[in-house]
Amino acid sequence: MTVRVRIAPSPTGSVHLGLCRTALFNWAFARGRKGQFLLRIEDTDTERNTQESLDAILEGLKWLGLDWDEGPDVGGPHEPYFQSQRRASYDEVLERLFAQGLVYRDFSTPEQQEAWRAEQEARKQRVAYRGDDRDLDPAEAARRAEGGEPFAVRFRIPDGATEFTDLIRGEVSIPHDEVDDWVLVRRGGGMPTYNFTVVCDDLTMGITHVFRGEEHLVNTPKQLLLYAALGAEAPAFGHLPLLLGKDRRKLSKRSGDTSLGDYRAKGFPRAAIQNFLALQGWALDGETEVFSLEQLVAAFEPGAVSKAGAVFDPDKFLWLAGEYLRKESPAELAENCLPFVLEAGLAGEEDLGARWDWFVRACAAVQERLSLYGDAPAWLRPYFVGAADLEYDEKALKGACKNADRVAHLTAFASWLEGRPVEEAAPDQAAAAKAWLADEGIKVGALFQPLRCALTGQPGGPDLFEIIALLGREEALARITGAAAGVLASD
Ligand code: GLU
Repeated sequence: MTVRVRIAPSPTGSVHLGLCRTALFNWAFARGRKGQFLLRIEDTDTERNTQESLDAILEGLKWLGLDWDEGPDVGGPHEPYFQSQRRASYDEVLERLFAQGLVYRDFSTPEQQEAWRAEQEARKQRVAYRGDDRDLDPAEAARRAEGGEPFAVRFRIPDGATEFTDLIRGEVSIPHDEVDDWVLVRRGGGMPTYNFTVVCDDLTMGITHVFRGEEHLVNTPKQLLLYAALGAEAPAFGHLPLLLGKDRRKLSKRSGDTSLGDYRAKGFPRAAIQNFLALQGWALDGETEVFSLEQLVAAFEPGAVSKAGAVFDPDKFLWLAGEYLRKESPAELAENCLPFVLEAGLAGEEDLGARWDWFVRACAAVQERLSLYGDAPAWLRPYFVGAADLEYDEKALKGACKNADRVAHLTAFASWLEGRPVEEAAPDQAAAAKAWLADEGIKVGALFQPLRCALTGQPGGPDLFEIIALLGREEALARITGAAAGVLASD
């Protein structure tokens, strides 16, 4: 049997990390078993659907590296992949269900239903809804419907319980007196509901496994009963643990950023996002935290997904981001930092293109300091602005000013630097400077602290001679003499 899995997002908002995690696990399951991964758009809520959200889902999942074999943009044998365009197929199934007496028309008004529930609650009886009209003569119900009386179509839940083996949670048993006679078509008509359409589509599309969030566990008995009513074999289900915030409540805006776009905008490396999502409820071997998509695909087993909620740890996410970012080659890093540098207005694209090698070198120089690409502009700023626009960090100034002889040291260093060969490589110059300092009897720190402050205004950063190479000798000298006569001149 070829594995066929899918995700069925609704295009009603930003691309939530929960969706990304569900997509990742489905995708990994399919790829590891030479199966197929489908994307189907659940756009039945016409009021809340937006084109913007649809575009963001398609673009975001592609960016994450999750390619689908069938879907709205790539097509496939079961087109269309938009639920809103599959209405006729749902109506057909509905007719069958009516013919078999498995669904019924419920003419009750919302007020009557409310009163029904209140009565049940007062009697402390079961609260799962059973419509008064469930035993109405079908011919009479059809007549009333034809007469224009509004009704909802409900599923006739049988007595008993639904039992199934969840691929993640094991044996699950849900008594039917907890399951409403659920609605397939709302009062007044319109697009059928999720629980109905999802079964129709999963069946038509030959879906073999459904991995989805735990919040859908309550829907599974409804869906399984529908498969049984249709005489069809149901897919296997696996319910993924909820993503929780540190407060152990469902991850939401309250506990931090939740959308893929938020993390991309901050400059989290793609591989770090993939890796972090894979860790939300799954582990490679209980030890290895940094692993690739290939490793996930090779090792992913639904049975190893945890049942307990996955607590989203932002510190760990940031740590992972740094792990990946610092592994990048200078060229990769520069490519990835580029949009952030442009966005910060440090330089234009053409300008950077014209001095690309220099930009790559500058990015490499600050790499150790970065966890996110979004950290790059702040660290790179001193290399883009003129001496007049340099910002001096308070800590850097304080450290530099601890040295009483700083002006004398800086002035002496400036003359020394002027005498060095222009083409001297940074490491050679560093070695020569240390020898010179020893000769002069100047402590390394007594020069280097004020020097760093004069050159970048930052308390830390790249090797000083790399900084001088990046700035160019002339600019470096201007900054040194400028600071000696300016910010570093007096206490
Ligand atoms: N639209 C549903 C969701 O995104 C699909 C659930 C399912 O996979 O059955 O939560």
